[in-house]
Amino acid sequence: MSLIEQAEYYTPILDIPNQCFTDIDSKRELEKKYGRKNFICPCNNKQYNYLTTSAWLQHIKSNKHNIYRNQEERKYIMEFGNFTDPSETVQKTIKELREIKVINRQLINEKNLANSKIKSIENKNKNLNIQISNLNIQISNLKKLLKNNEKIENKTENKTGNEKKKKNIIIKDKEESSNSSSDVIIMY
Ligand SMILES: [Zn+2]
Repeated sequence: MSLIEQAEYYTPILDIPNQCFTDIDSKRELEKKYGRKNFICPCNNKQYNYLTTSAWLQHIKSNKHNIYRNQEERKYIMEFGNFTDPSETVQKTIKELREIKVINRQLINEKNLANSKIKSIENKNKNLNIQISNLNIQISNLKKLLKNNEKIENKTENKTGNEKKKKNIIIKDKEESSNSSSDVIIMY
């Protein structure tokens, strides 16, 4: 323990029902909070203790100290929004944090579920693409077959056509020769 102990800085009391800061204004309360040690008021950097209560009571009525207390109130409002017990604010924040964690876990689960759905859809898509390319191969094979069949059909048609033509020519030839002979007969 050091011989020269740094005196503690004074802070006003949080008055939740009146939504403000109030100063400690009794010897008993000063002793309760700072014991028999000195404390420093931040507004004038002067030291007081429970034995100098009358000087202290005069000081907290001063304009300088009022300005300081108002500044502290503004700072508190800026930080916590209103004059609530910091432990209540901590409890509220812990509760909010817990809720956020639950929501976060749910979102992670939903994300994982969505990812697995996407994966299964991708797999289905891959399989469908394979089926499509297989069907395309089958279609092109069938087209080739169809073309070949058409060619064969054309050839047979041509063949029969030629045969018919040939037959016609023969018949014509016969007719012509018989005609010519008759002609000859007529000529006689
Ligand atoms: Zn002061």
